[in-house]
Amino acid sequence: MSSCIFCKIASGEIPSKKVLETDDIVAFHDVNPQAPKHLLVIPRRHIEKLADLNPTDIPLVGRLVVAAGEAARLAGMEADGYRLVINSGERAGQSVFHLHLHLLSGRDFQWPPG
Ligand code: 5GP
Ligand code: ZN
Repeated sequence: MSSCIFCKIASGEIPSKKVLETDDIVAFHDVNPQAPKHLLVIPRRHIEKLADLNPTDIPLVGRLVVAAGEAARLAGMEADGYRLVINSGERAGQSVFHLHLHLLSGRDFQWPPG
């Protein structure tokens, strides 16, 4: 989608600090980190939100989660542990409407989340 900031990051039109790239997935540092280490893992394809996924996306979702684990390893998150979060919809905190997984590490996290 031409106006989407994460589509532009995926294509390289907008610069980002990437930690992992595959044919269909990119992981990069969040510009406004909410933890000492904060990555975003996105599909290159524009999917607005989790609720728009359908059964044909199951292989992609599997690759996204596996890529998140790999990005966590590359970013040195394994010793501390990490949290994987998807905000879906405005009330849940979604502000960029291109599906993304937040990968957060390097501090204590509350449960339940605030
Ligand atoms: P959401 O609130 O939609 O779950 O998360 C969107 C995330 O994207 C936020 O954590 C925000 O800091 C991050 N973000 C927004 N614009 C940019 C950008 O241009 N570059 C990067 N690297 N992250 C961004
Ligand atoms: Zn997009």
